[in-house]
Amino acid sequence: MAWHQRTHWRILVALGLGIIYGVVAALAGWGGFTGDWIAPFGTIFMRLLLLIAVPLVLASLVTGVASLADLQKLSRIGGKTIAIYLGTTLVALVIGLVLVNLVQPGASIPESLRTTLQETYQEDLEDRQEAIDQAMEAGPLQPLVDMVPENILGAATNNRGMLSVVFVAFLFGVALMQLPRERAQPLLDLFESLNAVIIAIVGLILKVAPIGVFALIAGTITTVAGDDPADVAQLLGALGLYSITVLVGLAIHAFLTYPLLLQFCTPVTPLRFLRGIAPAQLVAFSTSSSAATLPVTMERAEHDLGVSEEVASFALPLGATINMDGTAVYMSVAAVFIAQTLGIPLGLGAQATIVFTALLASIGTAAVPSAGIVMLVIVLEAVGVPPAGIALIFGVDRILDMCRTATNVTGDAAVATVVAASEGQLSPTAVNGLPAGAGS
Ligand code: ASP
Repeated sequence: MAWHQRTHWRILVALGLGIIYGVVAALAGWGGFTGDWIAPFGTIFMRLLLLIAVPLVLASLVTGVASLADLQKLSRIGGKTIAIYLGTTLVALVIGLVLVNLVQPGASIPESLRTTLQETYQEDLEDRQEAIDQAMEAGPLQPLVDMVPENILGAATNNRGMLSVVFVAFLFGVALMQLPRERAQPLLDLFESLNAVIIAIVGLILKVAPIGVFALIAGTITTVAGDDPADVAQLLGALGLYSITVLVGLAIHAFLTYPLLLQFCTPVTPLRFLRGIAPAQLVAFSTSSSAATLPVTMERAEHDLGVSEEVASFALPLGATINMDGTAVYMSVAAVFIAQTLGIPLGLGAQATIVFTALLASIGTAAVPSAGIVMLVIVLEAVGVPPAGIALIFGVDRILDMCRTATNVTGDAAVATVVAASEGQLSPTAVNGLPAGAGS
């Protein structure tokens, strides 16, 4: 199917045009027009992707778990997947910490700007206060408690509660596995057919992706800029070093850690992998949501990288929910950066605490835009940095969110490819450079 190959070019062109339009609109003062007439198409695109997130996670995980045939296979593939997810997240945290300690971006913020920023973002902070309060009051095991919903249907109505959907899907899958075949079959058929319908919907949504991506980027730029691009320039300039530190960390992880992992553990070359996963990265970049990107990540992994359905439908929904390497890099850099700007020294012990809490916080981060900055509060609390310090980084968070989400989904796909290779479930056509199913 030719459009598969063309997709990422079309999205890339749309992204470029959206950026150009956004900058022109900000300069020309078209913020109101863009917000009223262009940005809504971005919201619609985002909603189209989100509306299939819960059924996709449910259907693909239930069939994924149930198809693993027995509990032994589930614990083998599951254990391996989770272990690699945790391992890559730890590497991400260490990369972030090493970089932020080397670069010391917090030292460069002038006192006057710090005060202005805190005042400017106070309102934003108040808007999120409720979520932040909840995160601060929660005990250490709260994410575990939240994972088990009181009500199955309730869990399915909230994209932020994806971890509980994952839990319910697991429960269903394991139970289906234990039933006699003829008892389980009707429900399995139902979930399989639901899965197929959703994948077909993804194909339709991808056709309009360029329009959605254009509108999302244009809307984001004009919102950040207001009608005064000079503000953006000043803010980005001041927080530039911090942003660059996060971006370099993300780039090292995405373009070094994963390729090395792939090089050593799979026959897929890093370039082949990056070419295959690029459309998902672009969608992640423009939606800032791993959950919204999940359909595209799955499509790419299965149809381009040649990951078997068995592994993809298990590892990717799980990864979109718990594996947030980009968020981990960001959390470690941001926590230390805020401490540096506020003049709070963090010793080795405090940095070890950051690794531990950020690991948990990244797992608990919902796969939706800006979830990471709310969870960052937990990390700051743990090392005694005032959580209000996040006001400092609000201004640049959106762009970093876009980039960390792209890293998050790259990590999910890389790990799924490694697990598939280790299970002998990687299609050889993909390995030889052709997309799986090409020519069909
Ligand atoms: N937006 C990110 C994601 O969906 C989560 C975050 O805010 O870090 O992957």
